[in-house]
Amino acid sequence: MSAIDDLATELARLPGIGRKTALRLTYYLLRQPPEQSRRLASALVTLGERVRTCSRCFNLTEDEVCSICRDPRRDPTLICVVEQASDIGAIERAGEFRGLYHVLGGRLSPLDGVGPADLTVDALVDRVRPGDAAMVREVILATNPSLEGEATALFVQTQLGPTGVAVSRIARGLPVGGDLEYADGVTIAQALSARRAM
Ligand SMILES: [Zn+2]
Repeated sequence: MSAIDDLATELARLPGIGRKTALRLTYYLLRQPPEQSRRLASALVTLGERVRTCSRCFNLTEDEVCSICRDPRRDPTLICVVEQASDIGAIERAGEFRGLYHVLGGRLSPLDGVGPADLTVDALVDRVRPGDAAMVREVILATNPSLEGEATALFVQTQLGPTGVAVSRIARGLPVGGDLEYADGVTIAQALSARRAM
């Protein structure tokens, strides 16, 4: 396989990039000074080496514990559960939520082979268990409003049952089947404030 094919194949694996765009980007890079490709390659390598998951909430971070978990101004009695770390950015942009997060690392999807063991639900239950220093009052389930997202919310609720913590689900108003990540701030803020107990 040629170097051109090689890069185009890798680029085409990225979401939203088809084979044609991948080739166009590859030829574009070929026309640029080699230094530009080296910077891109180095940024990609650094990304993989430095970024890891927060030991508490599984958000992406370059440290042991992420900046949100470390922030003393955040309310540790409130935990918002999301599917992906990228959902945190969307909720933070809405500027409404001041608690902490928990990243599940996906959603239940039997067809894609994603089961309970692939998600960080056990770690969430550990965080919520009574007797912990910072007592959690409420867990808000902000999984996506898709079939899998709803099923995941129900599963998490069941697992949290024995802890006795209050569990709520963000309100609809988010487009069904849509992604939290791409929702606008106002919609997210409304969905959070109109959450209902589960
Ligand atoms: Zn964290």
